[in-house]
Amino acid sequence: MDTVWVLGDQLGPDNSALSRYPPGSARVLMIESDRQLSSRPIHRQRLHLIIAAMRNRARSLRDAGYQVDYRRAPSFGQGLADHRKEHRPQRLVVMEPSSWTLDSQLVNLDVTAVRSNAFLCHRDEFATWAEGRSSLVMEDFYRWQRCRLGYLMDGDQPSGGRWNYDKSNRRPPPKAHSWPTRPGARNGRIDRQVLASLPDSAFGSDPDGTWETTREGALERLDHFLREVLPWFGPYQDAMSSDSWSMSHALISAYLNIGLISPSEVCDGVEHEYRKGRVSIESAEGMIRQVIGWREYVWGTYWLHMPAYRDLNALKAQRPLPPLFVTGQTRMNCMATTLRTVDAHAYAHHIQRLMVLANFALITGIRPAEFVDWMSSTFIDAAEWVMLPNVLGMGLYADGGTMATKPYAAGGNYINKMSDYCRDCVYDASTRVGEQACPFTTLYWDFLLRNQDQLAGNPRVAVQLGAARRLTDAAEVQRRAEEVLGDMTAGDL
Ligand code: SF4
Repeated sequence: MDTVWVLGDQLGPDNSALSRYPPGSARVLMIESDRQLSSRPIHRQRLHLIIAAMRNRARSLRDAGYQVDYRRAPSFGQGLADHRKEHRPQRLVVMEPSSWTLDSQLVNLDVTAVRSNAFLCHRDEFATWAEGRSSLVMEDFYRWQRCRLGYLMDGDQPSGGRWNYDKSNRRPPPKAHSWPTRPGARNGRIDRQVLASLPDSAFGSDPDGTWETTREGALERLDHFLREVLPWFGPYQDAMSSDSWSMSHALISAYLNIGLISPSEVCDGVEHEYRKGRVSIESAEGMIRQVIGWREYVWGTYWLHMPAYRDLNALKAQRPLPPLFVTGQTRMNCMATTLRTVDAHAYAHHIQRLMVLANFALITGIRPAEFVDWMSSTFIDAAEWVMLPNVLGMGLYADGGTMATKPYAAGGNYINKMSDYCRDCVYDASTRVGEQACPFTTLYWDFLLRNQDQLAGNPRVAVQLGAARRLTDAAEVQRRAEEVLGDMTAGDL
């Protein structure tokens, strides 16, 4: 009998390897690898989701009639060897892994890979699309996907008359708004067992009912998002509010990234809500773009550039990760608020990730690999294919412009415009020198001055670089930046 190895991010019903074998015709192998799960500190809620979702999937496969060999092992290699010794499978097959590292080990592990259907654009199709193009623009890929997949299309034209409504989706947070409330997760016996056995090295708050760990729960969350949250998703996508950690964000990326729900289930649902007239084109298009545009573009980019991508550091950033990322202790209200959310939910939404956390790492010059490691062990929806292009490429410009045509560096004025954080902060967003100066503002100008040689040829930062060069207080800004970086290293910022 063959064995199908089901990985922890392949938990959906459409797994292309497993769907070849009806119950009884193959054994299922699932491995909790110590190397993956306990060789470094990981956020409690992330560990809980990964392990509980795997165990719940094993149970549902047994209920469906499969024999499941669920084992814990020091590594995948050891788990496979132990399984082979005990069950002597004719063949071991797996759906292509999302991780380049594991994928490149399959030959040595003597495991046969089946073409993945986890994404709507297979990595080979992305490579074909990319071939011969001088630059890989996400918008071009997105339009190609829209035409190919038919989402939000009226004939060969985009629904609503425009391909992209991003400009309508950048409103600052409203003054008073009642954000959608979320149902609590129905965690059960398996969840309690997992929580009781988490390693001492795990950090962060215990689960508070934010995350479901079964397919049924994930589908309910998707349904809730489509009915209650999606109408608000568009306009305030880029806003940050002290009133709500989740605002109108979908909170489904964790389920997508471990396969509990599929990209087509999300897009079919969004299309349905739009066609029924229950959501605007701005909200529907914004969500479809996130899924078939950004998400699949990030995935394709990862495969196109691995393994060299993970070691990139175009700006030669060498500062170690400062203590505030671990302690959460800082007087910067934007950072403190975001880090509290991360501790409480293993989550922050995309603008908090890009324009607060990654922006701070970028302008302070934190080593990209260290920041990626912190994000990967902390966020509920982390995966190597997500983190490398998004964090290392978009957030830190460590790829020198492959993912982003300019560094996403911003001072306090951007955060002040898009959030209410600065209102309650000891620092002054509009000031760049002096004791009260906003660290983001000081470090933004210092970043431009520090990196002007590397950025000189980039037309998209020419205006900012010109402004930095004309600063009459440049020396004072750089002196204040030294103080700020010293305070940051000492854990006193
Ligand atoms: Fe953040 Fe600066 Fe605003 Fe304070 S003033 S919340 S540090 S951007």
